[in-house]
Amino acid sequence: MPIYEYRCPQCEIRFERLRRMADADVPLPCPGCGAPHADRQLSCFAAGGCNAPAGSGFR
Ligand SMILES: [Zn+2]
Repeated sequence: MPIYEYRCPQCEIRFERLRRMADADVPLPCPGCGAPHADRQLSCFAAGGCNAPAGSGFR
């Protein structure tokens, strides 16, 4: 399942949710202020891949 990133238009926090693609456009309430729907941002999946830092000693 892809991770989608959301941003609340009211309190402007960002959060991520693991969702099925079929649910991607279903409005999601903000966990911060309880606004009924947050705006979906482009996730790193949608953008074509994350820019994970390479060779940074991740072991
Ligand atoms: Zn909010």
